[in-house]
Amino acid sequence: MAEAEALFKEWAGYLKPEEMTRLETAYNFSKAAHTGQFRDSGDPYISHPLAVANILAELHLDSQALTAALLHDVMEDTSVTKAEISNKFGKPVAELVDGVSKLERIEFATNEQAQAENFRKMLLAMARDVRVMLIKLADRLHNMRTLAALPPEKQKRVARETMEIYAPIANRLGLNAVYQELEDLSFSFLNPMRSRVLSKALKAARGNRREVVSKVADAIKKRLQQDGIDAVVHGREKHLHSIYRKMDEKHLSFAKVLDVFGFRIIVKDVPSCYLVLGALHGLYKPIPGKFKDYIAIPKANGYQSLHTTVFGPFSSPIEVQIRTQEMHKIAEAGVASHWLYKSSDATLNDLQKKTHQWLQSLLEMQSGGGDSIEFLEHLKFDLYPDEVYAFTPKGKIFPLPRGATAVDFAYAVHTDIGNRCVAVKINDELMPLRTELRNGDRVEIVTASHAKPNPLWLNYVITGRARSHIRHFLRTVQSQESAQLGERLLNQALGSFKSNVGEIKDAHWDKLVKDIGAKSKLDILADIGLGKRLSVVVARRLLARAEGAGEERKSGAPVVIRGSEGIAVQFAQCCKPIPGDPIIGLINKGQGMAIHTHDCPVIGKMRADPDKVFDVEWAPDTKKLFDVSIRLVTVNERGVLAKVAAEIAEANSNIDNVAVDPAEGDRYATMQFTLQVANRVHLAQIMRALRRIPQVIRLTRIKT
Ligand code: MN
Repeated sequence: MAEAEALFKEWAGYLKPEEMTRLETAYNFSKAAHTGQFRDSGDPYISHPLAVANILAELHLDSQALTAALLHDVMEDTSVTKAEISNKFGKPVAELVDGVSKLERIEFATNEQAQAENFRKMLLAMARDVRVMLIKLADRLHNMRTLAALPPEKQKRVARETMEIYAPIANRLGLNAVYQELEDLSFSFLNPMRSRVLSKALKAARGNRREVVSKVADAIKKRLQQDGIDAVVHGREKHLHSIYRKMDEKHLSFAKVLDVFGFRIIVKDVPSCYLVLGALHGLYKPIPGKFKDYIAIPKANGYQSLHTTVFGPFSSPIEVQIRTQEMHKIAEAGVASHWLYKSSDATLNDLQKKTHQWLQSLLEMQSGGGDSIEFLEHLKFDLYPDEVYAFTPKGKIFPLPRGATAVDFAYAVHTDIGNRCVAVKINDELMPLRTELRNGDRVEIVTASHAKPNPLWLNYVITGRARSHIRHFLRTVQSQESAQLGERLLNQALGSFKSNVGEIKDAHWDKLVKDIGAKSKLDILADIGLGKRLSVVVARRLLARAEGAGEERKSGAPVVIRGSEGIAVQFAQCCKPIPGDPIIGLINKGQGMAIHTHDCPVIGKMRADPDKVFDVEWAPDTKKLFDVSIRLVTVNERGVLAKVAAEIAEANSNIDNVAVDPAEGDRYATMQFTLQVANRVHLAQIMRALRRIPQVIRLTRIKT
């Protein structure tokens, strides 16, 4: 219990007695739960949560966070449930532990840079309470400190994850000290040789540098004393990995990187910062363009300081940061620094509100640097999440807008996956495809080769990508199916001309496409399938082209057929329609279209078959003469036939055919003529003339 007591003593500095009591309870609870468990180092397991809580206590986090830190592994590693924690330590603590446990279950799997960024965002979005992330970072820091106890290959994996994921998160949250230690520890496991060599060189260099540093520091102190300014002056060292990165990225030698001396001057208030600046610039000449006032214009993560670089006494540049004690705390502790100033009786809601306000103020702060704009964007995404991040089973992460469903995810992975998805497993559980995804979900799309997008998906997908792919697919399928039907119909039509689709040359198709203003051959076939075009018409035109006959109808053609052109037209012999008669077109397989009068009895039932009957109308003026049949009943007298024939000729008509049935001895004779007329008006004139003949008793047009 010695370690705990020592720890508690430190915590007592800023926590209330009752909070201390609860922490002790939590410690004992956690210790009991982890009984019999040991770290890879051989230490009892409880040493780990205790160390994590300790790291957070250094940041002066509130007692809820410390309690959660003590309990952070019990849900993962022991049989303790969230409900149990909630009962014993309250819901907020249980939520924190649950949040950390959720992060625990997620492992970073790929090497891709972009994926690392997504992963960081996902973690931050998952850790909705920033304290969850702080606990996680402290957890990672202690694990890194004790990483040597793990097998080498595991060391590398954990170190790489720390370097790519957790160190950048610490940096982003402004936790400078944590960030630097995480990077240096990772570096020492990922590149042990370089790390050792560099560390040794740095130690040696520090020996040489110490003299320079102390001389400069003394000169500065003396000058500040003269000006009556109270200040603490530190020599500042870069952390190991940042030296390595600078050498690596800028191809600089170790000596060159180290040739810059850094100092930090800490004072009691803001006016003193500027006084120090003036004194310093009086002592050493500033290097133009290097001065930055992050007090007047703080960095987006809240960082404040004056930065200047001056020419030092040993022909080396000297970088100096000037800040107040308060700014220094913020610079070191970042987002956690907010807890440093918390009032002792702050409730959770106050804390959350404060954190929110703090983050909000960061968002509102405007500063010019590209880095800070980037920071703002990250902050927006991370802490006001309107994105969700979900995994494939292989660990690839896809960022999606909030509200995205499994179908959106499927299309984000690949169009084919989307088009063929039939089911989804989310975190190994079979779920409906419309399920909304949550951060950190592991999504396994189940596909089937025969599957097709369902139009109903359009009701719930929210990404444009999914929507447009589903629409595109449905459209394509529809026109493809129509085109298939159209091709079958066309083939039938061609068959009656003893041809088939295979015999039609592309050139003829192209010409037809152009002539009738269609988009493509497929378009024409789809139109046939949809009943917008007549297969027989298309067949005729294609064949006409094939024969080079150019059978196009010019103006003056007797019939206009709505919705098509160039059809082979015959006038039915039964009803013998003439212009002016109401007519319909009847498709006869292999014979084009036959024109009948509307009341032709031959059509009969076929009238109701929309695949065979088409609306047609007469062209406005036809030059042709049409056959028409009439029947007359006359008095059976010599010379009547001649009279009738004369009248017909007089009316500018021809007699094509005549059949007289003058039964001998009968009083009446029946005559049937087939005449040629221009139209109904013409026929009416003829019939009027014939009726004037006294012997004509009855006169009718016949339609059968
Ligand atoms: Mn842990």
